[in-house]
Amino acid sequence: MPIPVVDYHMHTPLCGHAVGEPREYAMRAFEAGLTEIGFSDHAPMFAYADPKIAMRMDQLPTYHKMIEDVRKQFEKKLTVKVALEADFIVGHEEDTRKFLSAYRYDYVIGSVHFIGAWGFDNPNDRTAWNGKNIDQVYRDYYKLLRLSAQSKLFDIMGHVDLVKKFGARPASDMTTEIMATAEIFKACGVAVEINTAGLRKPVNEMYPSLKALEIYCQEGIPLTFGSDAHNPKEVGADFDKALELARAAGYQEYVTFKNRKIERKIGL
Ligand code: ZN
Ligand code: FE
Ligand code: FE
Ligand code: ZN
Repeated sequence: MPIPVVDYHMHTPLCGHAVGEPREYAMRAFEAGLTEIGFSDHAPMFAYADPKIAMRMDQLPTYHKMIEDVRKQFEKKLTVKVALEADFIVGHEEDTRKFLSAYRYDYVIGSVHFIGAWGFDNPNDRTAWNGKNIDQVYRDYYKLLRLSAQSKLFDIMGHVDLVKKFGARPASDMTTEIMATAEIFKACGVAVEINTAGLRKPVNEMYPSLKALEIYCQEGIPLTFGSDAHNPKEVGADFDKALELARAAGYQEYVTFKNRKIERKIGL
């Protein structure tokens, strides 16, 4: 069975919490037998900006130069795409749209890391989980996922059950929330990713769960793969497990992007 050869989620030191130069990520990908990668570092933020979370707006030119340099260096070895992982924050849709149009991107990953001002997946904000109504947190999260797709800002929805990162589980079944989310994703034409970083987090499970991925597959949502590497050695991490998950959910292919459009489909 072919292991996915495309890793579409990796970071650079510009975000303030990743290590290693982009060429080291690319080298690792090449050595691991990948044929295509995309850099999707944390896009500048308008609300809750923090040099430990995301690059600054004035670093965007550096980012593009860095990726372009790696693209040229690896031209004969690897296809290198340029992307961003951008936060979805209610009220900042138009700011986000504007800066995304300032450069060319192959795709943009839309991620929900904040419920209101609460960075629910930030280890520094973890204590804020104490005393929360977990079911409500999950419902709020899924609602934001739907809004993020409806914003039409993004091509791929990032780690679509990140809310489970620290292991807090809802008492009620979330299937109807996920089904409603899948329908919106379908209507908005976005893809989802299998993100293996969850295996390196307290929850110790990929994003999303098998049950959720089955629902996305049934709805016909296109799929990508991402390691969410914040270190060159994480590039392509656990893609064997990601392949198993994709197939178990019913996926028979995944997609690549170019200039913010699906470029090709690759069989699994
Ligand atoms: Zn990060
Ligand atoms: Fe993220
Ligand atoms: Fe990421
Ligand atoms: Zn991420």
